Amino acid sequence: MRAFTEKRLLVATHNAGKLAEMRALFAPYGVEVTGAAEAGLAEPAETEESFVGNARIKARAAVEATGLPVLADDSGISVDALDGAPGVHTADWAETGSGRDFRMAMERTWNAIQATGKPAPFAAQFRCTLVLMWPDGHDEVFEGVLPGQVVWPPRGAEGHGYDPIFMPDGHDITLGVMPADLKNSLSHRALAVEKMIGAVLA
Ligand code: IMP
Repeated sequence: MRAFTEKRLLVATHNAGKLAEMRALFAPYGVEVTGAAEAGLAEPAETEESFVGNARIKARAAVEATGLPVLADDSGISVDALDGAPGVHTADWAETGSGRDFRMAMERTWNAIQATGKPAPFAAQFRCTLVLMWPDGHDEVFEGVLPGQVVWPPRGAEGHGYDPIFMPDGHDITLGVMPADLKNSLSHRALAVEKMIGAVLA
């Protein structure tokens, strides 16, 4: 495992929330964090069939464009009854041609589960893969998995994406109902970040 001793890091995301979270996490280590929008980066096509493959595409494109060390992530929900779908296609299932509609994506997920005829509970996981890539192309990979189940109907207006239909194990509310600070302490992203910090910064 290579230690991270750089003073600058590019976080390859256009999501302001993810960027703010990473900036705060790296600040105590004296690492200055830049976002993809500030660096003028385009979003590359995610053409791989794995989370790590797609995170590597984003990391490599950003390293090649800036010469900086880069942190990229890919995430999504995998439903056991659907053999892991939507998985790497989680965002695609919300695509309408004129923006993303997550109400539609949640309905599509539920309908696909119902069509299998399998009985509840519908085990699922939120997954987050982080790829930390150095300018020489070396990378380290960290994964966070949040186990739970898909429930219906959608509940709650907190969070984003598929949160209203996902109930994490050990809780009786969906992520859509859960206060943000609680979700952010147990999420797949938090677990991956915790592993990364323990491994390369501590
Ligand atoms: P990406 O990682 O930015 O490619 O997005 C993956 C997809 O998974 C997006 O459509 C998100 O809405 C969804 N997703 C990732 N993490 C979460 C989460 O914590 N809650 C709900 N949806 C999520």
